[in-house]
Amino acid sequence: MQSAGRKSAWLPFSCAMHLLYLDDAGSAANPNEEYLVLGGVSVFESQVHWITQQLDDLAAGIQPNDPHAVEFHASEIFSRRDIPWRGMSRDEAQGVIKAVLDVLSHSYQSARAFACAVHKRSFPGQDPMELAFEDLCSRFNLYLRRLHAQGDRQRGLIILDESTHETTLQKMARDFRTLGTQWGVIRYLADTPLFVDSRASRVIQLADHIAYAVFRRYNAHDAQYFDLIASKFDSADGIIHGLAHKQTVDPNCMCIACLTRRGS
Ligand SMILES: [Zn+2]
Repeated sequence: MQSAGRKSAWLPFSCAMHLLYLDDAGSAANPNEEYLVLGGVSVFESQVHWITQQLDDLAAGIQPNDPHAVEFHASEIFSRRDIPWRGMSRDEAQGVIKAVLDVLSHSYQSARAFACAVHKRSFPGQDPMELAFEDLCSRFNLYLRRLHAQGDRQRGLIILDESTHETTLQKMARDFRTLGTQWGVIRYLADTPLFVDSRASRVIQLADHIAYAVFRRYNAHDAQYFDLIASKFDSADGIIHGLAHKQTVDPNCMCIACLTRRGS
């Protein structure tokens, strides 16, 4: 009896959740960029610690005296304008971005990447962030539904970078219960996304790198980061569900997101 009681004391595990950390790359307003990307990673709650540890170790190699001051923000690393990236060569800086992405490629199978790349000109008069957010909520919901059918009853929670405040994401997060119902995605999701400070969350920093890798792939045709994580996008039965390329300009696009849909 006692051991049964002790066992039930561990039941908090049954309230564990799948957490989808999302960040954006590119901006809705910048006319010099063709794309806006929202992307990130779904992890089981227990994996957060492992990812944090890996990125803390990486930070300790870069700034041993104060690793916690190192924030991995891919576009800042790439531009090498600020400390600690300023003294680095181009190859060194790109190596840091790749090392962050490698944490995803070496993580557990259950860590899945998700991203939506919106070609802004393809959707005139529409908010690309709204398109991307609705798309990702729907993809995450489908992922959770698939897990549910396999007996995993954990719900999902979306976690957003606080710095996305100035975008329309903030408003959509506030209205999520209504929007989620309209979009038909509320079934397996907690009804309010959470905002976290990217300086305090290594997993949001990983999400930032995933969004950046997808942004470079579509906006600059630079696939060296994307290729490191391409196999981590959510997929089932040979179809890649975790990545969407929203565009109306190229019906023959050969990217893996478009190919998988034409083939299905
Ligand atoms: Zn495509």
